[in-house]
Amino acid sequence: MTSRGLRPLLACLIKVTVEQLRYTWTSMETTGRRFYNVQPDVVSRDRILFETRSAEVLAHRLRFRKCRLNSCLHKIALHDTGTCDSSCGQAETIEHYLINCSQNEIAAAFKNICDQLKISFTLPSILRQVAVLEEIRRLTHRQL
Ligand SMILES: [Zn+2]
Repeated sequence: MTSRGLRPLLACLIKVTVEQLRYTWTSMETTGRRFYNVQPDVVSRDRILFETRSAEVLAHRLRFRKCRLNSCLHKIALHDTGTCDSSCGQAETIEHYLINCSQNEIAAAFKNICDQLKISFTLPSILRQVAVLEEIRRLTHRQL
């Protein structure tokens, strides 16, 4: 068989593989559901492009829920309690830090940004928006 004869076969193979990947991504029941909420289509060609590498790293850490907030550090025994550094006493999860904490100015700033951009003030929608992720990187003075 010539290389020209293989092209239709290769195209068919790629199509089947992509469909299998898409089916697996949408039918998973437990693994990867948090990331699925942020990126429902695994084979989308609409990739998010960030201005800086540090914003991209931060976005992926937040999307995979593996960052340097106290709750994550507590899971790997690098923080005693895992609670917020502010006086609120709640577990410092990503959602708490970015949305719910009443003691830090970060949550209020993100609420204003989401209002200006007219996007929902929920974690999945925040983690989908490049502009918000760039602001997270810009506004936070600690490594996440
Ligand atoms: Zn707090």
